Amino acid sequence: MPAAARAAARSTGGDTVASAAVPGSASSALRPFSTAPSAPVTLLSALPVLPAAPAAAQRTAAPTAAVTASAVATGPTKVLLIGTDGTNLDKVLANSANTGFFNLMNQAVTGATSLVGHTTLSGPSWTTILTGVWDTKSGVFNNIFNPAPYDKWPTVFNQLEAYNRNINTSIVADWQYLNDLAAAGAYPADNNFSYASTDSWAATDAQVVAKTIDLINATSADSSSFIFSYQVQVDEQGHFFGGGSPEYAEAVTNVSNNIQSIMNAVNAYNSQPGLTDAQKWSVIVTTDHGHQQQVGFGHGFQSPTETSSFVIFDQAGSSSNGVQNLNYSTVDVTPTIVSLFGAPSRSDFDGVSLTTLTKSIVTPANSNAAPGGALNQTLTDAINSFGYPDIGTDIKLAVRTIAGAVPYFINVALTSVTDTLNSYAAQNIFLVSPLAAATAFLVGLVGGAVVSTTQAVAQVISYLTGAGSIAPTDPPLSSVPSTDALLAAGALPVL
Ligand SMILES: [Zn+2]
Repeated sequence: MPAAARAAARSTGGDTVASAAVPGSASSALRPFSTAPSAPVTLLSALPVLPAAPAAAQRTAAPTAAVTASAVATGPTKVLLIGTDGTNLDKVLANSANTGFFNLMNQAVTGATSLVGHTTLSGPSWTTILTGVWDTKSGVFNNIFNPAPYDKWPTVFNQLEAYNRNINTSIVADWQYLNDLAAAGAYPADNNFSYASTDSWAATDAQVVAKTIDLINATSADSSSFIFSYQVQVDEQGHFFGGGSPEYAEAVTNVSNNIQSIMNAVNAYNSQPGLTDAQKWSVIVTTDHGHQQQVGFGHGFQSPTETSSFVIFDQAGSSSNGVQNLNYSTVDVTPTIVSLFGAPSRSDFDGVSLTTLTKSIVTPANSNAAPGGALNQTLTDAINSFGYPDIGTDIKLAVRTIAGAVPYFINVALTSVTDTLNSYAAQNIFLVSPLAAATAFLVGLVGGAVVSTTQAVAQVISYLTGAGSIAPTDPPLSSVPSTDALLAAGALPVL
């Protein structure tokens, strides 16, 4: 469908959002700028040639009261969120080997989404996915983890745990930032599985997949579970070889095969006799941003390949299979998950539950996501309609990304130096080890001060460019009574 027709469909669709978003290392050590930035060339190429900007419409969340139960589910509920970092949907769609993706898309609803107007770095973008608000609210601007934003803007883990401690919440990840995020806030995830790099990121992702399948198989029909399972290899290959490289394409296919392995477990679980739809797993697959095609910064700017993203939603029991949704956004992921569990919807969400966006579904001539299929073609058309933001936004966000990169790179270099010194210190070598230990201490002290100073400067620049400029309207979660507390106070009927 042409862009104009899509815009018309969005404005007349009658959905509860006013309009769609504009189409448009695992140790934190090496991400998201694994390679040193070749600044001048890369930065110029990251700035717009001539913006073919679609109208910069803002999504507005459906009005909901601060503490209103979404009333979608009341019984045991299971939701699996699979994240694959830095994965371009056009690379998924271009390769007939990506059958894991295609099989899932053929039994789900897929949206080609865009981050235009928001920083395309992992920290800010996963924060959007896992809180339901954009960086304009969270204030997260780079990949140096800071727990403070998640007190103001609770994570999906916090929101589910605050609602009902009996929901078993888990993260399985090989990027420590996300494990730290899941541990942040007043109500952290129940289970926090972190995998450090081994032989390769593909091997580490395989460990994540195995653990995810174990967790799926271990759930019982009458329990409620939420799992966030994260894959890093596509983004890493993009940084080392470029998004247009064969290595990147190979990583996409590896992740596709991993998704197939996980979906085999999900489909086996869901086909057990006697399960209600709520007792079956609903699955969401998403990415945090795309990738530049060449080696360089990788991502962080506003080119269409960097802002390109996607959401695939396979709701248990839904009859919408192999179709496209024109209104999906990555900011909808957390509102969707809390709504599936029947947890309260925040009034200050930027997203809405995907379950409310039924009128923006497009049914292609055939439900086939593989190359040559009609679903493949309509999604490709959507990706190709995305453009740049206005030039002011483009430059503002480029300044923010560069400012945020300074403390990040210093921190990466510092960690490498102190790790090396500490390894000498640990070897008990006469004279050398005590000297190495003392030097590591001094380097850490001075370097740490430089990191925090440059991070503070970057924070000011980020704020001046709009990050974190919007305050919450909901109270902090710790002051919201939990279901347990309400039950104890006799304020809720015991069912
Ligand atoms: Zn990322």
